[in-house]
Amino acid sequence: ATPTSIMVGTGRAAELGVLFRKGDALQQLSGIDTVALDKTGTITEGRPEVTEVILAEGFARETVLSLAAAVEGASEHPIASAIIRAAKNVFTASEVEVVTGQGIRAQVEGRHVAVGSGRFMAETGVEVQALSEAEEAHMGRGETTIFVAVDGALAAMIAVADAVKPSSKQAIEALHARGLRVAMITGDKRATAEAIAAQIGIDDVIAEVMPDGKVNALNELRGEGAVAFVGDGINDAPALAQADVGIAIGTGTDVAIESADVVLMSGDLTGVVTAIDASRHTMRNIR
Ligand code: ADP
Ligand code: MG
Repeated sequence: ATPTSIMVGTGRAAELGVLFRKGDALQQLSGIDTVALDKTGTITEGRPEVTEVILAEGFARETVLSLAAAVEGASEHPIASAIIRAAKNVFTASEVEVVTGQGIRAQVEGRHVAVGSGRFMAETGVEVQALSEAEEAHMGRGETTIFVAVDGALAAMIAVADAVKPSSKQAIEALHARGLRVAMITGDKRATAEAIAAQIGIDDVIAEVMPDGKVNALNELRGEGAVAFVGDGINDAPALAQADVGIAIGTGTDVAIESADVVLMSGDLTGVVTAIDASRHTMRNIR
């Protein structure tokens, strides 16, 4: 590629809201086989809402939400803000322990409260069996399920729904039309991830990935061809740096943007298609 054609291509892409931070990326993007997408905040809005609170026997809704919200005050996860918004009162927490990609424990009102995934409950020694039937139904709708335990006893299951961005499905169709495979990488449960993938036509789902496992998941995909990874969060930064091409959603966190080769000014996946078209157009003119 000549420096001039790269400059022209980069300039044209910028006019369309796609910033190529390195000329190399414009070239590399024309050679990718797979687009791997983060789920929360990339495919979905990243603003989950509580849809249902199912209580275990002996627990009251407002108390459980106030306890859970107190614990979530220490977390920056979108699930935390959903639970805090759903609570009428938020108690004060102390001795807080955040376990990234799993949940949080703390002392609240003299009680020990844990909030997080089923796996986190298992590690905390709390049996979630009693509410797992309700959990299946919510996961089948693409919702995320969180458990609350108080003094070692299961208190509730909270279901949260994070809407898919209106343009995600169409963008994935456009990627397919360009001969690309589309994968999703998420820390969420398999059943939840598969339900969302089915709604929008994702080919491959890599679920239940720990925050430090995103790079491994990405490298698995890279074994089968060149991969562009699209993400928005702090926990996406290593994968954005490791991918053949890292693409950050412009509305995402600063760390994600700094780690990416390409930044989309729009907050959605339409920009990925624009970026690929700009890249292919430039490379075609060169060959
Ligand atoms: P993703 O970014 O793909 O949603 P994460 O790795 O951030 O995945 O989280 C994985 C899972 O860990 C969540 O689906 C949830 O079950 C649990 N989790 C993480 N943080 C929290 C939190 N602050 N409160 C409750 N659950 C949490
Ligand atoms: Mg995200």
